[in-house]
Amino acid sequence: MQKRKLYLDCDGVILDTINKSYRVLKEKNITKDSEINKYYQSIDWKEFLISSGEIDNSISKIKTLSNYFDTKILTHVHSEKEGNAKKEYFKEVLPDIEVIIVPKNIEKRDMVDPDGSILVDDFPPNLEKWEEKGGIPVKFSNSGKKSTFITITNLLELLEIDFENKE
Ligand SMILES: [Mg+2]
Repeated sequence: MQKRKLYLDCDGVILDTINKSYRVLKEKNITKDSEINKYYQSIDWKEFLISSGEIDNSISKIKTLSNYFDTKILTHVHSEKEGNAKKEYFKEVLPDIEVIIVPKNIEKRDMVDPDGSILVDDFPPNLEKWEEKGGIPVKFSNSGKKSTFITITNLLELLEIDFENKE
């Protein structure tokens, strides 16, 4: 049987980049949009990804998931620099997993075909749009906050969901 396609968001699902950037912005007292953009442009992304760290041993969990799903990483980026750093990072820690880079102005659902495929993401608008095109949305939430989507707090919960009846 062919494995079902599983797309995993990076920021806030695999790596703790969101919390890390909030922390740095707060420390540096950066609040204006223009300054936030400047900050993102100035980041040493490779160092940033490594220092952000995995969320809850995500890398080893993804290795497990890839035995059951056709697993890929689908991640939005602000810049080419960020995209290259993410590709490099995952090439080292998950060499068998494809990383699909999505420029910020393109929807994830327009980058790949969502039909019958799972997207795990922490950003609800990505999930809403995914569902509109026939995809199966799964919300990842560290806090387990309630959502209208199936919600998981641990990537391995994907192994317990009956996706055959979710289409
Ligand atoms: Mg995210």
